Amino acid sequence: VETTLIILKPDAVQRQLMGRIIARFEDKGLQVVGAKLMRITEDLAGKHYAEHEGKPFYAGLVKFMTSNPVLVLAIRGDEAIEVCRRLLGKTNGIEADPGTIRGDFGLSKGYNLVHGSDSAKSAKRELELFFTKDEIH
Ligand code: ATP
Repeated sequence: VETTLIILKPDAVQRQLMGRIIARFEDKGLQVVGAKLMRITEDLAGKHYAEHEGKPFYAGLVKFMTSNPVLVLAIRGDEAIEVCRRLLGKTNGIEADPGTIRGDFGLSKGYNLVHGSDSAKSAKRELELFFTKDEIH
């Protein structure tokens, strides 16, 4: 059993898609074990997206992620990291398959609604960035 970090990005919150997106994970059999509606600071966004520093989209990405509240989730289940990545779909909504969250709800590469940890190592790192131990149940 794994726990992964999912972020419903500012576009998902603003478009009032939180309930429908959470339902995708719950319908699959995954469990929400942590949840926090919060505004990400520039410092936290920088830590979270450190691997993208220097890329052309980095500044816009940090600006977007800090622009409005996000819903941060800890999600648990068998192979949760890989299962969630598949539920999200490809980064670009245009390329993401129908049936995936990005494939069904968006057309954008940047405003792509959700983030999900991409490995066990990033899940551990990202969960520690966003949650204290006692906030995950
Ligand atoms: P995430 O890490 O958010 O789950 P991902 O692993 O599918 O997404 P990455 O390549 O790690 O995609 O990029 C991180 C985020 O940066 C993307 O989710 C997207 O919001 C943004 N991004 C990536 N590439 C571009 C781009 N070419 N133009 C604009 N934004 C981009």
